[in-house]
Amino acid sequence: MYKIGIGYDSHGFEKNKPFILGGINFEKNYGLKGHSDGDALIHSIIDAILGASNLGDIGKHFPDTDKKYKNISSLILLKKIYNKIKKDYEIINIDNVIITEKPKLTPYIERMKKKISTVLNIESNSISIKAKSNENMGFIGRGEGLAVISNILLRRMNENSNL
Ligand code: ZN
Repeated sequence: MYKIGIGYDSHGFEKNKPFILGGINFEKNYGLKGHSDGDALIHSIIDAILGASNLGDIGKHFPDTDKKYKNISSLILLKKIYNKIKKDYEIINIDNVIITEKPKLTPYIERMKKKISTVLNIESNSISIKAKSNENMGFIGRGEGLAVISNILLRRMNENSNL
């Protein structure tokens, strides 16, 4: 039995905050707005996992009204979600599109894949990360923020699971 899931997230840019994406600090003088570290790629992957396993969404598991998630590393949230599904599901692959005008993502893609694959206990070549611009259209085109879309394929290992 295979299950697919989709995730989406977007965050605005904010000055003087660390730019964290895919668990990597890009060392920029602007970051991603948000209650946690604003890591839209990790949030999108979390929602894809939760979608495939029909466990709700990131806001249900980590409400942004809860003070304990303020500035938390999103990798910790990803690990918590992975721990919920790992007995029942094997991750086959994750495909991601990051839509943004800035910064240039290419130099960071291999590091992001490596970081995420370590948390999820899969090969780094089971993760694809693609970068797209928005051709100067809309909020992304104006450089106000970025968006991420993720797809995941899970294989259910435990046929008796109710997940
Ligand atoms: Zn988010």
